[in-house]
Amino acid sequence: MDKDFQEEFTQVIKFQPPLYKQRHQFVKDLVEKYKPKKVADLGCADCSLLWMLKFCSCIEVLAGLDICANVMKEKMHTLSPLPVDYLQPSERSLTVTLHHGSVAHKDPCMLGFDLVTCIELIEHLEESELKKFPEVVFGFMAPSIVVISTPNSEFNPLLPGVMLYRHPDHKFEWSQAEFQSWALETARCYNYSVEFTGVGHPPTGMEKVGFCTQIGVFVRKYPQTGESVLSEKPTEAVYKTVFKAVYPSLKDEKYLQNAVISEVMFTAQIIKHRLMSKHKEYSDDPERKSKFQPPMNCFSDYLGKLVVEKNMEPFVSGNEVYIPLATIFSFPKVNRLCGTFEKLCKLIAGKVTLSSDGSAVMFNTEHENEEN
Ligand code: SAH
Repeated sequence: MDKDFQEEFTQVIKFQPPLYKQRHQFVKDLVEKYKPKKVADLGCADCSLLWMLKFCSCIEVLAGLDICANVMKEKMHTLSPLPVDYLQPSERSLTVTLHHGSVAHKDPCMLGFDLVTCIELIEHLEESELKKFPEVVFGFMAPSIVVISTPNSEFNPLLPGVMLYRHPDHKFEWSQAEFQSWALETARCYNYSVEFTGVGHPPTGMEKVGFCTQIGVFVRKYPQTGESVLSEKPTEAVYKTVFKAVYPSLKDEKYLQNAVISEVMFTAQIIKHRLMSKHKEYSDDPERKSKFQPPMNCFSDYLGKLVVEKNMEPFVSGNEVYIPLATIFSFPKVNRLCGTFEKLCKLIAGKVTLSSDGSAVMFNTEHENEEN
């Protein structure tokens, strides 16, 4: 490489966004493409990739593994649910777990993942660990997809201040040919295909140098059968779980019930409010007032496509207002939350005041009238 040319670039190479963000974005894009449900990040360090992935709505299980418990513990609180997660539980379930251990050891908690990411991990492994790594990740964990990123040593002369390796803890840094030959051999051994790419483009005119971070995306050639997942894998647990968060989810009956009750009450209040304003229009006429029934279509403007049947009409009787459950169930949000009318009835039973036959939500307006 021409020395002047090289010096010119060492002055200006600065990745925007920073390289670590580009690596994490690469993983996020891959998650959005393949939609894995279970993702494990090996060598997860400060959990920043895991934090980013918790917002991917397809993921239901996220796990991190690192040999250094302290680095994981520093920011693991960022993986805990926030108050808003309890106020508005998500429709998906999400469990986040952090394990302390080495990628050189097998542990059953790492089985069953769809995607395993190893971002800037392998260059930190001792020779003996690197030898065991393919058998643990590709042989034992055997996810559908593995992503491995590692520095491309050919790029180093372009980086300011890099003498031997980019980081003092790196045990090696590979050229493109070295990484590709290791990756191809690993893929061949464990029946994966592998494609190479990277992040951090080389400057124009120096494309041969390759990406600053080289990436191999491994895809398992054959689907795993239930049998192969379970057989030959009688390993004992060796990792230590240091963190576990189960996010509130509407898949959990307790959160679903709360969400349904508040949605039912909110919907019933809207209908009641509309009904009462109509009712006021009639109040000058004492005969009509006592047994008020609104015109059938008076809710159609905000009930959307609701087909108003006779038994779905809300009505006022004395101080009591009745909003049929069938009407409430026809609101899209209530409908989507419950799925069936029977489920709606079951979830609100004993929690919401109903008419004696259980077919309508009942409000007593006596005190409201006094206040007014
Ligand atoms: N993946 C992170 C950081 C990588 S740094 C990111 O994308 O930013 C490498 C990490 O691998 C460090 O946190 C280090 O503690 C961890 N590590 C090193 N050897 C390991 C091993 N044998 N098993 C698991 N983690 C290891």
